[in-house]
Amino acid sequence: MPRTFCIPERYSSDLLGYLKQRRGELDPRKKDKSPTVLPLGELTLKFARHFGFCFGVENAIEIAYRAVSENPGKRIFLLSEMIHNPHVNDDLRSRGVEFLFTTYGEECIPLEEVTANDVVIIPAFGTTREMFQKLEEKGVDIVRYNTTCPFVEKVWKRGAQLGAKGFAIIIHGKARHEETRATFSHISKNAPSLIIADTEEAHWLSRFIRGQETLSAFHEKFSGRFSESFVPERDLLRLGVVNQTTMLASETRDISRILRDALLERFGESSIQEHFSDTRDTLCYATSENQEATQALIQSGGDVSLVVGGYNSSNTSHLVELCEEHFPSYFVKGPEDLLSVDTIRHLSLDRWELSESSPWFPEPSSYRPVEVVITSGASCPDALVQAVVQRLLELRKIPFQRFVEGVERSLQQLERVHDSGVPSVPSPFLTQIGGE
Ligand code: SF4
Repeated sequence: MPRTFCIPERYSSDLLGYLKQRRGELDPRKKDKSPTVLPLGELTLKFARHFGFCFGVENAIEIAYRAVSENPGKRIFLLSEMIHNPHVNDDLRSRGVEFLFTTYGEECIPLEEVTANDVVIIPAFGTTREMFQKLEEKGVDIVRYNTTCPFVEKVWKRGAQLGAKGFAIIIHGKARHEETRATFSHISKNAPSLIIADTEEAHWLSRFIRGQETLSAFHEKFSGRFSESFVPERDLLRLGVVNQTTMLASETRDISRILRDALLERFGESSIQEHFSDTRDTLCYATSENQEATQALIQSGGDVSLVVGGYNSSNTSHLVELCEEHFPSYFVKGPEDLLSVDTIRHLSLDRWELSESSPWFPEPSSYRPVEVVITSGASCPDALVQAVVQRLLELRKIPFQRFVEGVERSLQQLERVHDSGVPSVPSPFLTQIGGE
């Protein structure tokens, strides 16, 4: 039985929650990655099998709101954005929660202002050892409202274990992201550590391992991204790879393969285990599920995609990257980005700026409906996804009731496909919501 969390209702969508719950009941082992397809006449909506809040985000939200309710009258600080979703962060701000740092570590409120009487919430990404130490020295309770995700801590522990065995650690992540800074801080205490961004940098390291790159070039390329203890000519010969948990898991696997191949070439199969440690089990299951479900969604085809999430959300941007390769894709943070039937505002990842596109919606044809692919990042509430759908239907002049009925029909179809013996339960929505 998966753990359930107490999160504010305003983040939930009864309808999408029902959809997810039924799909979970029909497929408890999560083998079926196929999307949920809702034909609604002139358009068809296709939802990824997995989307939205992950375990770590729900855990963090539960703890953060508990911190607010348990401490009336106290100053409550978040070290930085709890998760990368502006709606959630704004709501916490409106309840008096103050942010000490920006996502990139710039100070918003001087740390000197924090006292032992204050409450400090550690975000889901965790924080650095140095920050834990500073807060502890002030007498702040760093345990009670620590929302660091257990899957991030698992990465830290594995890094420490490998360091004790003499391995260095390659961290696949964005050097400025708070999770990567935290992971680097924790792991580099126990193991020489290096942050790399992508497969291009892994290929560069593989050339270094093969003796085709120089030490000075290494220092120039990776300046500021390796620990003091990192000695490239020694440490690149005995490696484990972990990641910022929201990176593309497939890219982390590619990085591992590239480095392993270089070590294999140099040392041979018989001694590869002394030079490369398999760390695949540290990849976050929730990130992998969302990314694999998005791949399945893409394979099922579509005309246009909407990916919902905070613009600074790393995992959401990776979902957008996956979709962009296949169809026009729009990274929106909520219904307000669907400006009109013709115009959409979205984050353009290649230029990293807000853009407006017009026209953005493919013209419906008399031959087949327009297929709209929908997914969302791990920090995006289902309520926002539903609001985006509602806005889209409103713009296309499609009654919301048709969406409600589409969910039910689609689930019945899936029940037949799964032939699971799970009895078909009457939808709580068809009776709740009036006709067209
Ligand atoms: S993406 Fe994974 S590691 Fe990150 S918060 Fe969610 S469950 Fe935890």
